[in-house]
Amino acid sequence: MVADKPADAANENNDQLDVLKSTQTVVKKALDKLGYPNEVYDLLKEPVRMMTVRIPVRMDNDSIKIFTGYRAQHNDAVGPTKGGVRFHPNVSEKEVKALSIWMSLKAGIVDLPYGGGKGGIVCDPRNMSFRELEGVSRGYVRAISQIVGPTKDIPAPDVFTNSQIMAWMMDEYSRIDEFNNPGFITGKPLVLGGSHGRETATAKGVTICIEEAAKKKAINVEGARVVVQGFGNAGSYLAKFMNDRGAKVIGISDAYGGLHDPDGLDIDYLLDRRDSFGTVTNLFKNTITNQELLELDCDILVPAAIENQITEENAYNIKASIVVEAANGPTTLGATKILSERGILLVPDVLASSGGVTVSYFEWVQNNQGYYWTEEEVEEKLHKVIVKGFDNVYKTAETRRVDMRLAAYMVGVRKMAEASRFRGWI
Ligand code: GLU
Repeated sequence: MVADKPADAANENNDQLDVLKSTQTVVKKALDKLGYPNEVYDLLKEPVRMMTVRIPVRMDNDSIKIFTGYRAQHNDAVGPTKGGVRFHPNVSEKEVKALSIWMSLKAGIVDLPYGGGKGGIVCDPRNMSFRELEGVSRGYVRAISQIVGPTKDIPAPDVFTNSQIMAWMMDEYSRIDEFNNPGFITGKPLVLGGSHGRETATAKGVTICIEEAAKKKAINVEGARVVVQGFGNAGSYLAKFMNDRGAKVIGISDAYGGLHDPDGLDIDYLLDRRDSFGTVTNLFKNTITNQELLELDCDILVPAAIENQITEENAYNIKASIVVEAANGPTTLGATKILSERGILLVPDVLASSGGVTVSYFEWVQNNQGYYWTEEEVEEKLHKVIVKGFDNVYKTAETRRVDMRLAAYMVGVRKMAEASRFRGWI
């Protein structure tokens, strides 16, 4: 007979799955380690500003549907807030808040002159027409226009939003502002002031982190066996970059299941067949579950899908020696502890997925100066920024004897805590 878990353990488990609570737990630990007083945590545990909006949209069948959206601005001591807008049925106020804190941490780790922001709309773009999506996108910008702008808060793409949606949002903002304002949003199409390399930036950043982590573990990326969970923007480009570097991508998955071939999958074929939401496994008969995928025998595991995938239930079964979090929040805190005790090198989300916001920063800089860089220039600059962020986090983990997640939070939180203090806020 299995005894019931004591109430405390059950609560702790629920807290771990609550992304806001687990983010706050690590922020608190990081500030304690750095020696900041409790008021600093009190300021940083929640966004300084949170807006909830209701967006009426005329649907294709002529009915009016009211969508709920959010914009969280975590901390603007360092500079304007920055972060994506997510279109997903599971978007919630809590999730948007946690994601805005993560954006602050990312900006701190790669040393960008921003604080963190995040937005989300509760909707399912998989069941919406092009015109309905345009309506929601424009409605959202009208609703939040007073608190966003190129010197206040700069949105960008995130889950299920893309350059077309950024273009509609930029157009709507420019109409409200009465002049063309490309620096209001990043992740735009190239012809509207987008940056070379923005589309692939998250996956490039993850690739650079994999290369750095592999050096630490004396693993050769060429020939290494890689498993990627998720085939969206980050996962699909990452599988391609790994494949191009001679790694063997033996497993990939989407929301419906996974594919496994110990001899390596045909990534170019899968990329060609994936739909715009990253679905490809529906074309195959022999699939494995996402849980089986995570436990495959491999060298490098990249969760690039959704939250809470590696938990205390499966952390002991992970066989990879390096786990690089391309998704936001894929590993619970309990699982983080187990992985680091097992000597697995975990590159946390706030570091591994910072390539996207880094190239967004480059895009904003190019918009502000009106002078545009080549793809090579963007790549070179991105490489420098991510390697520096990785080194900082790795060294902090070693010298302070903490796991990589806590080290990343320590590096990420320091600048905004200092800036808040200099401004006299705390
Ligand atoms: N949504 C991406 C992220 O979570 C990019 C944000 C941005 O480019 O501002 O990092």
